[in-house]
Amino acid sequence: MIVLKSKDEIETMAKAASVTAQMLVELPEVIVPGMSTRDIDEWVEHYIRKHGMKPAFKGYGGFPACACVSVNEEVVHGIPSKRRILREGDIVSVDLGTIYEGYYSDAARTYPVGKISDEHARLIRVAEESFFEGLKYCRKGNRLGDVSHAIQQHVEAAGFGVIRDYVGHGVGRNLHEDPQVPNYGKAGHGPVLTPGMTLAIEPMICTGNYDVRVLSNDWTAVTVDGSWAAHYENTLVITEDEPRLLTLLDGRQ
Ligand code: MG
Repeated sequence: MIVLKSKDEIETMAKAASVTAQMLVELPEVIVPGMSTRDIDEWVEHYIRKHGMKPAFKGYGGFPACACVSVNEEVVHGIPSKRRILREGDIVSVDLGTIYEGYYSDAARTYPVGKISDEHARLIRVAEESFFEGLKYCRKGNRLGDVSHAIQQHVEAAGFGVIRDYVGHGVGRNLHEDPQVPNYGKAGHGPVLTPGMTLAIEPMICTGNYDVRVLSNDWTAVTVDGSWAAHYENTLVITEDEPRLLTLLDGRQ
């Protein structure tokens, strides 16, 4: 069941999301070669608690950290570790969220670690672009499949793969609500977009084949072929007019 949010609920979500948005903007300054993925998680936890909010992911389904930090061939749900040291040329996806007065925000970006290859820079860019291609269809009366289809088209036209096993979702009083938001699909299918729907849309893409497997830690998804992956996610609201992006400050970040 898709739960539509009231104006007040949306404003509460926007407060939660404002802290998430600010972290995403500051993270490029934080991420440097030589730091561990755990260092990123500690920075995120401190930031969230300093703002009087709760980390959305810590303890969720037993997840042990505040941020999912996924490096290179890791697609999502990387568990931060003191032993995983970032090196020049890596790409690192940071997925995080906050809870404020019972309402969730959820967003992700992939960041370069120092200087990265042109191909991986393009991968990161196409993940972001595909989100905005989908966003064009986030209008009342459209179908969710219109969004999914636009994302898939953009990613595949760039020669990259769309991850199938993980999808976006509704978000609000819970981190994961209906509907599921696949990053692939048929235009004209799926639920009708309605004002008050709050969605986390999150293309996950890779340079190779989209098949993934989960590591023995039961969380971290990696590409089967070892190709590198990028992730771009925002929490947004369907309105009477333009979609409202909650986890994005002015301009693209
Ligand atoms: Mg999400």
